[in-house]
Amino acid sequence: MLNILFSAKPAAWAEYEAPLNRAFQSAGLSANLAQDHAPADVDYIVFSPNGPVTDFTPYTRTKAVMSLWAGVETVVGNKTLTQPLARMVDHGLTRGMVEWVVAHTMRHHIGMDTHILGQDGVWRTDYPPLAQDRPVTILGLGALGEACGHALVALGFPVTGWSRSAKDVAGIRCLHGEAGLDQALDGAQVVILLLPDTPATENTLNADRLARMAKGAFIINPGRGPLIDDDALLAALNTGQIAHATLDVFRVEPLPEDHPYWAHPQVTVTPHIASTTRPDTAAQIIASNIARGESGLPFLNLVDRSAGY
Ligand code: NAP
Repeated sequence: MLNILFSAKPAAWAEYEAPLNRAFQSAGLSANLAQDHAPADVDYIVFSPNGPVTDFTPYTRTKAVMSLWAGVETVVGNKTLTQPLARMVDHGLTRGMVEWVVAHTMRHHIGMDTHILGQDGVWRTDYPPLAQDRPVTILGLGALGEACGHALVALGFPVTGWSRSAKDVAGIRCLHGEAGLDQALDGAQVVILLLPDTPATENTLNADRLARMAKGAFIINPGRGPLIDDDALLAALNTGQIAHATLDVFRVEPLPEDHPYWAHPQVTVTPHIASTTRPDTAAQIIASNIARGESGLPFLNLVDRSAGY
């Protein structure tokens, strides 16, 4: 019998208890899932950073920590965490992100604000370009970035993806590393940020890089707040270099009431709702990863502590 500790916000227990127990059973695992095992008896921790466990030292026999979140920036530097940490790669989370990114890209692409939301009595007959004529760049070509890239390619957009390591993804122009970033941004009309928050990705979009995009480009950030230099973005919005920024994530969340983003006419704020882990699909991922570990296979989706994601 495996003792599995569920360490997340109390409200999450009601959502996850049944799906996790079903998934453990389907994976052939005999598991005792609870919110309060004695630390020294815990085999695995299902974890979210806003739950009660902050010190992993007493979890002496824990074989792995299974994060419910894709972003691990608040736990990756925890010095007491010596056990393997798996981040969340969940089909439901990915599909939710694809839908959000496609919707916000299409809003800007077809000019919904002008032609639908405007309703100002002006008969405007300017047509948007076809998707094929609007280059899109996705910074971060991981689980989420790649899935969004495929969906945008299917709609006809020329998509460039940028990652840390070299990649070869069908239909997507792949660039990587410091040298690839400028090239990825040159002339981009829509830039979507799906990078993790690490020391290396902070202020990826700074003044110089914003200036590389096409005049009047759109920024869509469902990644993390620190990826953007906020002052540089506000300046670029004010000159029209950036036409609009749709921002789901911020350095401080909730976004403070007096933050200039709230009132800026060219900024759309959404409250970190681009996507979320879905209990049914996430439970299956966690159960199959634990089953892998129990049968001697390496865990999937392990976080690289030195890279920070
Ligand atoms: P992932 O699979 O780890 O992908 C991260 C991508 O970023 C990879 O392509 C990686 O390159 C690239 N990258 C990392 N550091 C880089 C660097 N220094 N330079 C260039 N590229 C770099 O992560 P994911 O599952 O797609 O999630 C991405 C992020 O989305 C999460 O970290 C989280 O912050 C955010 N998120 C937001 C929401 C929301 O609701 N707003 C929900 C879920 C996730 P390699 O491929 O070479 O490793």
